[in-house]
Amino acid sequence: MSTMTPLNPYHMAVQQFELAADQLNLSEDMREILRQPKRELTVNFPVRLDNGRIKTFTGYRVQHNVNRGPAKGGIRYSPEVTLDEVKALAMWMTWKCAVVGIPYGGAKGGVICDPKNMSSAELERMTRRYATEISIIIGPRSDIPAPDVNTNPQVMAWIMDTYSMHEGFSSPAVVTGKPLSIGGSEGRNDATATGVLFVTRQAARRLGMPLRGARVSIQGYGNAGSIAARLFHNEGCKVVAVSDTRGGIYNESGLDPAAVLRYKQEQGSVKGFPHAQTIGVQDVLEVPCDILIPAATEGVISEANADRVQARIISEAANGPTTPEADTILLKKGIVVVPDILANAGGVTVSYFEWVQDIQSFFWGVEEITQKLEVIMNRSFAAVAEKADQFSCDMRLAANMLAISRVAEATQIRGIYP
Ligand code: NAD
Repeated sequence: MSTMTPLNPYHMAVQQFELAADQLNLSEDMREILRQPKRELTVNFPVRLDNGRIKTFTGYRVQHNVNRGPAKGGIRYSPEVTLDEVKALAMWMTWKCAVVGIPYGGAKGGVICDPKNMSSAELERMTRRYATEISIIIGPRSDIPAPDVNTNPQVMAWIMDTYSMHEGFSSPAVVTGKPLSIGGSEGRNDATATGVLFVTRQAARRLGMPLRGARVSIQGYGNAGSIAARLFHNEGCKVVAVSDTRGGIYNESGLDPAAVLRYKQEQGSVKGFPHAQTIGVQDVLEVPCDILIPAATEGVISEANADRVQARIISEAANGPTTPEADTILLKKGIVVVPDILANAGGVTVSYFEWVQDIQSFFWGVEEITQKLEVIMNRSFAAVAEKADQFSCDMRLAANMLAISRVAEATQIRGIYP
């Protein structure tokens, strides 16, 4: 593990923004607008715990930019949530929606809490009160939350129900990532990982590297990571290593992702899975592999370990897993990084499909969803790759340039109010 000072994700996001802004010759006025989130809401709210005591939780909802459409972004529950983390994630959401060309701005939310040590009833009360507190800025036409780390379709259902109770009628389009029975979309649960697979296929094709037989290592075994493991396994890849917060496992002959998931569901962690070697949480980033999929949290690939990464492709399922210093090292090593705002955009893209279906109250089948997702992911990958070739730069800079120029154009053309 790195012993360096903890990274500030917002500083990292601004640093990435400035790099792209320099390349685009973006005016100082436009930088002044885009560098900061439009709105930051902090809420402190009491929740009664099962033991009868009251605990005050702190939560955030940040909207970065809404010039291309309503704000969109997930809600994270974790003891590590900070306002700067939420601000960074909101900014990345703005660029992500722009890079795949869906009509949203960026937002993010979070509550500082330890969901693993809370009962389901406590989580429900906390979620409903947080939803009420942020209901002054969320809504189907203004800001639409979705799942992120430690939140899931059930949490989205509680938010949708709470918001609907306030409105007096059901308002499914206020959140995405809901269960199917209340207006969720086919394909949403797998969407982030499916998008990661689509762009990784394109990246591998560019390198002339077959996916069949490719060794894959994955950090994080939640929604993004465990489903990526299943999909890459089905694609003929060998998933050699996976990890979660408690530890990692490695088997050079390949792991069975479904068996690992069952083990994690029973034991609470992938650690200890039989027929695999135990490795450290960070070791999963350094094992011999062809494709590395960080699917956990920010800043895990830094100048402290980037030099030891052995993959040929890094597909960023997580948001912000690579620091700008690490990007420089990876570029020198010739490792292709498919950046977060492109690689994990399958999630928000199918969230967009869910919102469109909710608004029109007319639902599509999973084949149509997957087909439409593939068109968007492939088109976006091609546009970013073309930009990277044109500017002889890495795909992160290219993706940021593409995204920021789209947001800047919308901002410019709308003008400044009043
Ligand atoms: P999740 O809560 O379902 O899973 C997170 C996983 O990461 C868990 O297995 C957890 O144990 C592990 N983890 C957390 N911190 C870790 C660490 N320091 N080291 C190793 N493992 C760690 O969350 P998720 O929805 O899968 O999100 C994972 C990442 O993907 C986040 O960066 C999130 O922003 C990003 N993402 C998610 C979606 C989505 O649709 N869920 C969409 C786009 C991006």
